[in-house]
This record gives sequence, structure tokens and C-alpha cells, in this order.
Amino acid sequence: VSLSDPVEDNRICVCVRKRPLNRQEVARKEIDVVTVPGKGVLLLHEPKQKVDLTKYLENQLFKFDYSFDETATNDVIYRFTAKPLVQTIFEGGVATCFAYGQTGSGKTHTMGGDFSGKNQNSSKGIYALAGKSTLLFTSQDVFALLEQRRYASMGLVPSVTFFEIYNGKVYDLLNKKAKLRVMEDGKQQVQVVGLREMHISSPGDVIKMIDLGSACRTSGQTFANSNSSRSHAVLQIVLRQKNRLHGKFSLVDLAGNERGTDVSSTDRQTMVETAEINRSLLALKECIRSLGKNSDHIPFRMSKLTQVLRDSFIGGNSRTCMIAMISPGMNSCDYTLNTLRYADRVKEL
Ligand code: ADP
Ligand code: MG
Repeated sequence: VSLSDPVEDNRICVCVRKRPLNRQEVARKEIDVVTVPGKGVLLLHEPKQKVDLTKYLENQLFKFDYSFDETATNDVIYRFTAKPLVQTIFEGGVATCFAYGQTGSGKTHTMGGDFSGKNQNSSKGIYALAGKSTLLFTSQDVFALLEQRRYASMGLVPSVTFFEIYNGKVYDLLNKKAKLRVMEDGKQQVQVVGLREMHISSPGDVIKMIDLGSACRTSGQTFANSNSSRSHAVLQIVLRQKNRLHGKFSLVDLAGNERGTDVSSTDRQTMVETAEINRSLLALKECIRSLGKNSDHIPFRMSKLTQVLRDSFIGGNSRTCMIAMISPGMNSCDYTLNTLRYADRVKEL
């Protein structure tokens, strides 16, 4: 990956990020089945068996706007994905960045903040620091642009919202997980009623909000099977001009995309959750595709996620980036293939 800043003008950018094999995968002697041979290219070496039981690898090639291997840092990912979108919200547009992939593939690591609640041990420091840098950078760039002559006179005021969507319901992470209603007015404007919007005046303020929201997200789980991998987390950086919405950047840490059929549980709650996740991820794919095609019909009512993010899919000045996260281990092959196919469909028009 070249370190020069990208000058891309695409409305939809789709990238993949491969994480390193983790300690458990190494301990299980899982082989790494993913390689990144060149810019935007990713190869999956799927282990197969012939009828005579000879083993071989089937290579599948995928092409995206960017592909990042396990050596890429959050800083690099940021520069190629979210950073080019910061400008969009200053120009009065809507920017959206999605982290997609199976649980454990690196979505939260990439999007920032320790939402998992599992990292309460000594490794948290580095994890939290590394993870937060993406959001920290975003807010740093927001503040840097606010100070630029071009924008300083516009009187733009930045704030953040932070909420989660679990089982089709919206919970405010900056207000004790208050359950919120989503309303649509006659002009198809979608509003999350009572969503708390906190003013920010420095990048440090954003970190405080991430901490507050993340703690809220993992505390007091009232649902039997609930954990953060089953919900979508949305952090929005909002720019207002005299209280009127000017631009909006949504950073979305999506629920794990593992399929219902792979869930061994027959627990009803889990099945309902899984169906809802599948539906929202399907809706998301369709909505991004309709943005790419400049289509008039955006099926945003298909799920709460896409309904809440409606502005992200309408024409005008909206830009979207999806980062598909890949676990490189052999045991994750099926999930990885699912993720790659999904990302491929989002990109292909
Ligand atoms: P997800 O949110 O997709 O479920 P996480 O972001 O929680 O996954 O990542 C799972 C684990 O893998 C975490 O311990 C995280 O620190 C680690 N990890 C993820 N991506 C990377 C990476 N690119 N480099 C190093 N460690 C990573
Ligand atoms: Mg996560």
C-alpha cells in the first residue's frame, strides 16, 4: 500500500482488511488462507478435496478499491477510507463508513473503542489506544477543518450522537440506553426522537463520548443472549449551522454477519436476533447499491438500520465507504467467503 493520500472521487468505496492470525488460531495450527498480492486484490485459498481425497487449494480472486493486509495499521486504513469523507460533511453532505464482517474479524478494532466488554484485562491499554485512533483521527480532522479559513466563518458547530440498534430497536448510548422511537414525517424525513446530541469542542471530547457510550453499551445487558456483536453501533459526527443540519458523518460498527444456519442454538431469542441481523445487512446492501445506481427507489424501510441511515443513501452529496473485515484462519473460510461475496455485491453495479 502506498502511503500517498488517495484522491478518489467515488461515491462508494469498498475495501477489505485482513487481520493477523490470532493466538488461538496459531495454537490450533490454522493456516493463513488469505493473501493480498497487490493494490485492491485479495486472494482466498480455499482448501478443497477431490473425490479421490487429494487435497488442493482453490484460489479465488477478488478486486476492491483497496485491500489491506495484516501489516496495515489503523492509521493507514483511516487515511484511505474515512479521511477522504471528512471533507464531504463540510461541503454539506452525508458521509458514512461501515465496518462489516464476522465476529472477531476486527470491526471494533478498526472503528474504535472497546465495545466488546471482553477486554477488561491488561491488554486493554494497547487495544483501546489502537482502536480509538480511527475515531480520534476523524475528530481531529473535523477540528482541523473547522479552523481553516474557508470554514471558520461559516459558524459550524460540531456534536456527536451515539446509539445502538439491537433487534430492530434503537437505544441511546449517551443517555443510559434509553429506548428511542424512530419517526418518519410526510417528507420522508427520518428522525430518532429524543436522541441525545452532545456538543464537542476538542478531539478529546469525542474520546470521552466514546468511553461513555461504550461503557453504556456493555453494561446492564438485559437480554439473555445479548452481547455487542449482535447489535449495530452508530456514532455520528454532526455539523450544524445555526441549529440547521449542515453535514453528518456516521461511523457504523455492524453486527457480526455470521449466518443463522451456523448458529447451533435453537434458542428462540437468538433466532429472532439472527433473522433481524440478516435482514438489516441485506437491506444495507440493497440501499448502498441503489445509491451507486442513482436509483430513485431506495428500500430504506426494509430495516431499522437503513431507515435510521436513510440520508446516507439518497443522492446529492453522499459518500459511503465499506470496510469488510477478514479473519485469515482456515476455519473461518466459509465466513470469509460470505463476507467477500457481500462486499463484492455492494461494489458491483
Ligand atoms: P469484531 O468487532 O469484528 O468482533 P474485534 O475488533 O473485537 O472484532 O477484534 C477481535 C480481536 O482481534 C480483538 O482482540 C482485536 O484486538 C484483535 N484484532 C482485530 N483486528 C486486528 C488487527 N488488524 N491487528 C491486530 N489485532 C487485531
Ligand atoms: Mg465488535
